[in-house]
Amino acid sequence: MSKTVVVLGAGLGGIPVAHWLAAKSTQSDPELRVILVAPNDEFFWNIASPRVIIPGAMGEDKVLYSIKDAFSKYSDDKFEFVAGKAEELHPDANSVTVALNDGTKRDIPYHTIVIATGADARDDMPWKVVGTSQQTRAAISQLRDQIEKASSIVVGGAGITGVEVAGELGYTYAKSGAKSITIISADSLPLESRIMTSTRETAKKELEKLQVKYISNARISGVTASEDGGKIVKLTKTDSTEVELKTDLFIPAYGIKYNTEFTPSEMRDDSGRLHQDTSLRSPQYKNVFIVGDAGNLQVAQAAVLGAQVEYLVKQFERYFKDGQMDAYKPDPKILLALSIGPSRATGQLGMWKPFNIILWWFKARYMGTDTAGDFVQGTKILKTK
Ligand SMILES: Cc1cc2nc3c(=O)[nH]c(=O)nc-3n(C[C@H](O)[C@H](O)[C@H](O)COP(=O)(O)OP(=O)(O)OC[C@H]3O[C@@H](n4cnc5c(N)ncnc54)[C@H](O)[C@@H]3O)c2cc1C
Repeated sequence: MSKTVVVLGAGLGGIPVAHWLAAKSTQSDPELRVILVAPNDEFFWNIASPRVIIPGAMGEDKVLYSIKDAFSKYSDDKFEFVAGKAEELHPDANSVTVALNDGTKRDIPYHTIVIATGADARDDMPWKVVGTSQQTRAAISQLRDQIEKASSIVVGGAGITGVEVAGELGYTYAKSGAKSITIISADSLPLESRIMTSTRETAKKELEKLQVKYISNARISGVTASEDGGKIVKLTKTDSTEVELKTDLFIPAYGIKYNTEFTPSEMRDDSGRLHQDTSLRSPQYKNVFIVGDAGNLQVAQAAVLGAQVEYLVKQFERYFKDGQMDAYKPDPKILLALSIGPSRATGQLGMWKPFNIILWWFKARYMGTDTAGDFVQGTKILKTK
């Protein structure tokens, strides 16, 4: 009897899982059949998105790769790519309804499903895939045009994305005085409070060296259009004072939406992430697996996702034989490599802050694009150590 495994999402989680299953079907388990479902027919190496939006800094060919080409080595009876979005999961009936990109719908029955639908950035910012690949390309191109035309830019949010975007803008424009770049942080230091203070301080110092203006302890309470076509960014400081900033361009780099609304509500937590047990399954459904940002067991970072994928493909051997699995042991160590423009970096490995040059070598130099092509081909996995 054939076993159809549906993988939802073609991001950093879905791509390696789909490759592993298709290879296993080809090499040793002819009963397996893999269906990969995603609206994007090109894989997006989103880790480099802060650099690809800078006009002239990096071509789209470094971050967007044809999924069809990457999976062409598997025959049609082993692997199928379906361009569309899961619209409704019916876990009691083992099927998923997909809204196809061509406007029609398809119900796909499954033996096992892997949910790797991740999260979207707010306001269609291309930090993540924006719907179809054409929409992602259009969003990158639009943001490049807006950056080109603006004399002043405010980046909202000083998490990983905000710091990396402000770093690229600072390096390209603020350092030379060509444009004014400002970043808004809700805290006194950038990045989340779980990150070491020394790493956070380095991030702030490096941004300031690039002449990026750092506004601390401020929450964005509203953004409106100004009469001259720019934006007015309203800030509420922690001491409750209100401040208004006028800028040509506001770039939101805060707030994400987990792509899980197609699941029954009891599968989700209050933030929208899916409950995961220690076999990376939904506690209610033993044939529903979750990897990456969509699941709530660990932080939403590629660094932990690599370990989840490694665990899953190893355990799938047993799962497909007798349904049994060893428990996944989440590693609580913080792994962070942060670029601050193409020439600087900082980060953290557990409670150790490696030399910035090492982090620059691994991250800021190419933003991982040197391995992205191999990753989408399935010949390289995300490094977790
Ligand atoms: C700018 C930036 C830089 C980052 N840098 C780092 C870093 O240096 N280190 C690190 O550890 N982490 C980093 N991250 C985090 C990392 O990118 C995420 O953890 C990772 O992308 C999560 O992968 P994922 O596969 O779970 O989800 P995603 O990458 O969000 O992929 C989700 C996939 O699901 C698809 N999809 C969405 N909805 C549906 C649906 N209904 N049906 C079917 N498919 C659907 C999407 O189109 C996409 O293909 C960074 C994030 C950003 C934004």
